[in-house]
Amino acid sequence: MTRISPTHPRYRSLRVRAGLARALREGLVVPEGLIAQGRGEAFDYFLGERTIPSARRAERIAADWIRTARHPVLSVNGNVAALAAVEVARLVRAYPRLGIEVNLFHRTPSRVRSVARALRSAGVVQLYGLRPTGRIAGLDSDRARVDRRGIGAADLCLIPLEDGDRAEALRRAGRRIIAIDLNPLSRTSRAAHLPIIDELTRALDEIARALERSPRTRPKRRGETARALLADARATMARNLLKAPRPGRPGRRRPRR
Ligand code: ATP
Repeated sequence: MTRISPTHPRYRSLRVRAGLARALREGLVVPEGLIAQGRGEAFDYFLGERTIPSARRAERIAADWIRTARHPVLSVNGNVAALAAVEVARLVRAYPRLGIEVNLFHRTPSRVRSVARALRSAGVVQLYGLRPTGRIAGLDSDRARVDRRGIGAADLCLIPLEDGDRAEALRRAGRRIIAIDLNPLSRTSRAAHLPIIDELTRALDEIARALERSPRTRPKRRGETARALLADARATMARNLLKAPRPGRPGRRRPRR
């Protein structure tokens, strides 16, 4: 395997890609997952590969919503397990009442075991969805399957990298939806009550940081509408597309001489 030099300007992205390629060989990620990552990377490039202020605000609101939910559940698919098992474990440590459900678009027993193994080795002990017992109305086949005690009983679902159909069906089923998705145009982002337009690991880390801080005395942050969060992400991307970035550093201004 090619060694990636830490001095390469795209070191982080290359390491992530190498990790996903390994996860594909191990059966944790499916080929379609690599394509989804590619789409995400493109949008992150437009964002400037950083958490924009409106996303950071959304991440803090997400922490408040998780804290005040009756039964919050985070849905984990193959890409999420491959990219962010450590961040998921940090989130659970920060807020042990957060349920974690294995939720696979392309579900096979061996993939479920791979996802569970990745999460457990990062330190997540309790998992829903290993043997799904319920269904979400309005979806066909395996995509409808959920755990009755997990997403089936949840009032709040945190759905990173989710498919649009499922996001819409969960919302119709009465769940409050927080999406993490770099694409502000995706159906998932548009279906969410709270769309977080940010890269998965950055978003989970920021939510965990907010949960690790002591609870705010003010129970609710002033709401920022989903529409405004999506509009801000689109506007940031549009601005970045119109200015010339330095090679290797998308979206950043050239330093003044
Ligand atoms: P829709 O929600 O309209 O069905 P889609 O077809 O693009 O959108 P999928 O391919 O099922 O959805 O899901 C992948 C989504 O996840 C993409 O929108 C992509 O931008 C986003 N994505 C991929 N990798 C990451 C990542 N690391 N962090 C955040 N978002 C990501």
